[in-house]
Amino acid sequence: MSEKFTGSFTQQEALPEAAIEAALQVLQHGRLHRYNVVEGELGETALLEQEFAAQVGAKYCLAVASGGYAMATALRALGVGPGDKVLTNAFTLAPVPGSIASVGAEPVFVGVSEDLTIDLEDLAAKADQARVLMLSHMRGHLCDMDRLMQICDSAGITVIEDCAHTMGAAWNGVASGRQGKIGCYSCQTYKHVNSGEGGLFVTDDEELAARAIMLSGSYMLYERHLAAPGPEVFERVKYETPNISGRMDNLRAAILRPQLRDLDAQVARWNARYQKIEAGLRDTPGLTVVERPEAETYVGSSIQFLLLDWSAEAVAEVIKRCAARGVELKWFGGAEPAGFTSRYDSWRYARAQSLPASDRILAGIVDMRVPLTFSLEDCAQIARIIRAEVMVVHQAG
Ligand SMILES: *Cc1c(COP(=O)(O)O)cnc(C)c1O
Repeated sequence: MSEKFTGSFTQQEALPEAAIEAALQVLQHGRLHRYNVVEGELGETALLEQEFAAQVGAKYCLAVASGGYAMATALRALGVGPGDKVLTNAFTLAPVPGSIASVGAEPVFVGVSEDLTIDLEDLAAKADQARVLMLSHMRGHLCDMDRLMQICDSAGITVIEDCAHTMGAAWNGVASGRQGKIGCYSCQTYKHVNSGEGGLFVTDDEELAARAIMLSGSYMLYERHLAAPGPEVFERVKYETPNISGRMDNLRAAILRPQLRDLDAQVARWNARYQKIEAGLRDTPGLTVVERPEAETYVGSSIQFLLLDWSAEAVAEVIKRCAARGVELKWFGGAEPAGFTSRYDSWRYARAQSLPASDRILAGIVDMRVPLTFSLEDCAQIARIIRAEVMVVHQAG
């Protein structure tokens, strides 16, 4: 009898006690709207912004309704509008091109390299096509950020970082989201902190911060923010910035604050699981492990490997055989988008673009979520199952 994994790939941990207590306090006083505070009270949302800004070393922070909203707000704050082109990753998830489409702009896709980061050669080649890059640190892989910033700075491209998978990660010790002009994070259940839905926006640029706060729907209550520029900056933008409501509320902020305090400990737990799986997959014939650069501090909340140059049938067979043994793998090479694994050619509202070198890599990317509810023994078992099934199919082919 071959072993079978019986755990769940989508089960989250319970929220920490401190988060539950903080939520109860908000429920008891009833002031859920972020600007609904009593005399002298600092609202949970404002405190969350102040603490997150300090945590990543940013001057300004705004909490919003979702990660996708933070990204669209970043584009709007930069003045990106209908017909503008925005560079972005071909290998990413649907909310990324979606944020570009939401402002009427057009995504120009940049390829993916074998280390699953943005292809910097392709970026350099396309640098004259847009003035903004929406850089997605897809699945937590950071590219050579020094090179990327050199390319973008010399071409006059403004970088927005999509850090949905890199909250808690760093490049050469600098928090992810702090190399570009704006960093955007998601607090959605499947990311690194969990408020169901939610997003965070950080920048050091006072004018962008003021615009983002006005955009999110601050009315004229921006003085209740604790990680915002001074009123004189708002004076410059407040009459010309529309209100596109997307605020965070105090209940979500309350449950996020204790989780952010625990983030480093959670990252260590994720990485212990990731490293267990990675060690179990290493040296499997036909399977390529994605090596992590030394400058990168990553968060192993998911793991990817490549079945490079395998036939579609053989990859599908591995996915099927692993599923039969309780291991849920996702494949980015499938013809049809399934679950979250859509590809650049599934986003048909965007102009059709051809990226043959990336197609080869996408066709081999296998992806797996690593929930903290897995034990280290679960991780070792999952790796054994994947390794065995990859070897069976590889030997047959
Ligand atoms: C989840 C996600 C987002 C957006 O987050 P939401 O909070 O769900 O809007 C952006 N980019 C990537 C790569 C994501 O996975």
